[in-house]
Amino acid sequence: MTAIVDPQPVNRAAVNRIRLLILILGPLPILGSSWALCAWFKSEPPPIVAPNRVLGVQADRAAPEITTATPAPQPSPLSGRALETGRQLEAMLGSECQVVVRSPFVLGSDLSRAEVEQLYDRTMAPAVLAMYRTYFATPPSDPITVLLFRNEDSYNRYCEELFGERGISIYGYYKPRRRTLVLNIGTGSGTLLHELTHALADFDFPDLPDWLNEGLASLHEQSRFGSRGGEPWIEGLVNWRLAGLQEVVRDGRLDSLAEMMANPRFRGPGEGTNYAQARYFCLYMQQQGLLAEYYRAFRRDHAHDPYGQKTLAAVLPGVDLDQFDRDFQQWVLALGQGD
Ligand SMILES: [Zn+2]
Repeated sequence: MTAIVDPQPVNRAAVNRIRLLILILGPLPILGSSWALCAWFKSEPPPIVAPNRVLGVQADRAAPEITTATPAPQPSPLSGRALETGRQLEAMLGSECQVVVRSPFVLGSDLSRAEVEQLYDRTMAPAVLAMYRTYFATPPSDPITVLLFRNEDSYNRYCEELFGERGISIYGYYKPRRRTLVLNIGTGSGTLLHELTHALADFDFPDLPDWLNEGLASLHEQSRFGSRGGEPWIEGLVNWRLAGLQEVVRDGRLDSLAEMMANPRFRGPGEGTNYAQARYFCLYMQQQGLLAEYYRAFRRDHAHDPYGQKTLAAVLPGVDLDQFDRDFQQWVLALGQGD
């Protein structure tokens, strides 16, 4: 479950270049959403420690200075709520943990502060930027809490203490109602990117069906990302879910893509195969340069196409979908771990 990452901190100059490019070239809908995203990132200045804050919560804005000449800068409602969430989290976690606020994200962890900040700067921030550049358009409107526990022991202990939960997953999970990710980060950052995809998709495409939600999240659990020519990018890679899928294809037991998409019990019996089929469908589309187009078209048209089959036909004009499915299965069989 270890993600292959291309660790590059967010490049502010690159963000500015993207904004300029979008302003010059972008059609209005793209301009609007991209501007909102860039503004979201740009509106949060580099964090500083505000000494009048609760100990351990790192403010993402300086404490307002009292002056009669200019109005004091006010935190945006979201960053203010993120700070408040951070204060509450600090009280819940106790003195053994660090709380770092990077609005809209509120990170709580028993790692050191430097380790948490490095995880944010090198993994979370560039991956989030790349996901927005590639798929998403609607930025978060609520704080997202990310709990990172250093090993299985502390992860299990905090799951029990904070939520009265145990044994949900050895890697981590996402609690949608609380907009909270709970992670055993000792298993690597793959689960962080998986659950982060769910948390962001919740804002961008609330009606995203399970199959594509899990397909996209599973794609990112083994991925690389970075910035190329100032353009953030993210690419899924082959991972451990391939072998089981190949076995099912070889046995002739794999459902058609249309059946998988419409399966009301995607997370029921056989979910391992369902996740793998959805993930490798996403990888197949990614390799053909169609995944982002498909996601955006599906988000636009989902009211008339709740499972996405019609949208698939629309982004593959003139392609016979039964043949597409056969080609997909042949591609799965030919895929190797090094691809
Ligand atoms: Zn998931």
